[in-house]
Amino acid sequence: MENNERMVNKIKEGIVIDHLPSGSAFKILSLINNIGKHKGRIAVLSNTKSSKLGMKDIIKIEGKSLDYGEMSSISLIAPNATICKISEYGVSEKHTVSIPDKISGILNCSNMNCISNNDVEAIGDFSTISKDPLILICNYCNTAMLKEDILQKLNQKPFSAQNSNK
Ligand SMILES: [Zn+2]
Repeated sequence: MENNERMVNKIKEGIVIDHLPSGSAFKILSLINNIGKHKGRIAVLSNTKSSKLGMKDIIKIEGKSLDYGEMSSISLIAPNATICKISEYGVSEKHTVSIPDKISGILNCSNMNCISNNDVEAIGDFSTISKDPLILICNYCNTAMLKEDILQKLNQKPFSAQNSNK
C-alpha cells in the first residue's frame, strides 16, 4: 500500500475503494451515479501489486460517499472490495462490501419478456441464491442471472434511480 500511496496524493475527504479485481476499476467507476459530473479528484490505480490478490485495482474519489445501490453494484463485480471512508486525511470507517440477499433497482432482468422490462412502474428485483458462483433469480419471472448476464446488465445504466424526476 505504501508505494500506491506515493503514486497518488492523499485526499482529505472521500472514499477509497480497494481490493478490486485487476482491470475492474473502470467498469466500477461507470456504476457510480453521475461520476462524469463529479467535481472532486478521482484517481484510478489499475494493475497494482497486492499481497492478497496478486494484482488489484484501487479507486480514490474525493468528496464522495456511496449509497446502498452503488455499494450493491460494486459487490456484484468485486465481492472482496473494501470501502474506506476518508475524513481529515485518515481512514474514519472501513468496511468490506457484501452481496445483498435482495437486489432491487440496480439491474434489469435478462428476460426481455419479463414484466419488469415492460412495465414502467416495475423495477428489477432479484434474490441472491448463490454468492459464489454468483446466481440471482428474478423475483417476477424466476429467470436465473449468472455472473456474465449480471455484468452485461450492469453496464446498462439503471433506469429507475437515474430517471426519477422527484
Ligand atoms: Zn424477470
